[in-house]
Amino acid sequence: MPRVVRVDPSAPAGEIVAEAAGVLARGGLVGLPTETVYGLAALGTDAAAVRRVFAAKGRPDTHPLILHVDSEAMAERLVAEWPRAARALAAALWPGPLTLVLPRSPLVPAEVTGGGPTVALRMPAHPVALAVIGALGAPVAAPSANRYQTVSPTRAEHVVRSLGDAVDLVLDAGPCRHGLESTVVDLSARPPRVLRPGAIGMAALRAVVPDVAVGAVTAEAGARRSPGTDARHYAPAGRVVWVQNAHDALEAAGRASAAGERPFVVGRSIDPGALGLRGRALGDEPDAYGAALYDALHEADAEGASVVVIETVPEGEAWLAVRDRLTRAGGSRA
Ligand code: AMP
Ligand code: MG
Repeated sequence: MPRVVRVDPSAPAGEIVAEAAGVLARGGLVGLPTETVYGLAALGTDAAAVRRVFAAKGRPDTHPLILHVDSEAMAERLVAEWPRAARALAAALWPGPLTLVLPRSPLVPAEVTGGGPTVALRMPAHPVALAVIGALGAPVAAPSANRYQTVSPTRAEHVVRSLGDAVDLVLDAGPCRHGLESTVVDLSARPPRVLRPGAIGMAALRAVVPDVAVGAVTAEAGARRSPGTDARHYAPAGRVVWVQNAHDALEAAGRASAAGERPFVVGRSIDPGALGLRGRALGDEPDAYGAALYDALHEADAEGASVVVIETVPEGEAWLAVRDRLTRAGGSRA
């Protein structure tokens, strides 16, 4: 098992930060808490360290990673140009769960960008992540700290369960505040386009960049441009069954149990406990729902659920990121 160290999420101890920066500087991998999910961090300017990230995750090396920075100044060194839209978005929403895609500078190894001409950058709003990047004095490449296509980690124990000894050190700062990945915006496109919906909503983006576009890319083109958009991703081990109401949830769970399967219900307005079913009620508020979703899917996996019964979520922009992740978890409609 990797070394796991508890850290104060708001004021990490200096010697722990220095230890993590040391591991990264030597080419090692660190499970790093951020406000979105736990990242699997490597020194972003070290091609060999970045290759270890792909090996640990079992992720195809054509899928680019996000570089995490501790300042706009660090971001500017990693891109060929830092346009006005980047300046405005960074001023309004960094540090925060917003990733900007721009033409890369020669400082960025091809391993980070999947061989492509653009790089994805984000300044996380987490004191631990910022302190480690600051101590390292260099960007950290950090995809989610989980095996490829499985549910992203929102707690340190999820990282350990998914990656084991493939990670050298895990900093445990407790559960992640947002629990969903960052919003990815391609600023190399005209108009700027959301490649992956996430913790920052469309309204917040439009307030800064009014012409920002979403959707419209085909699934195939989207997957090529932005690998987090693969049709299957963020998926629990069990088969997903969609239901609309408590009656259907009872029926689906009952059918699964009768067939000797183990159901787990992820409710929104449905409370599985009140129906005598195993599962979690995540509520009708999209941000709180999003923050708890992966934890519920990890619980389903840990319980060995072979059927995950999920209540559908509403249409509309407020549920965009949640609907995106649910659709990929189930490989069909949320
Ligand atoms: P993950 O590492 O699993 O959290 O996902 C990282 C995400 O960043 C990917 O799913 C892409 O959506 C996005 N990304 C990273 N680099 C690029 C890039 N150069 N162009 C487009 N999207 C990118
Ligand atoms: Mg991921």
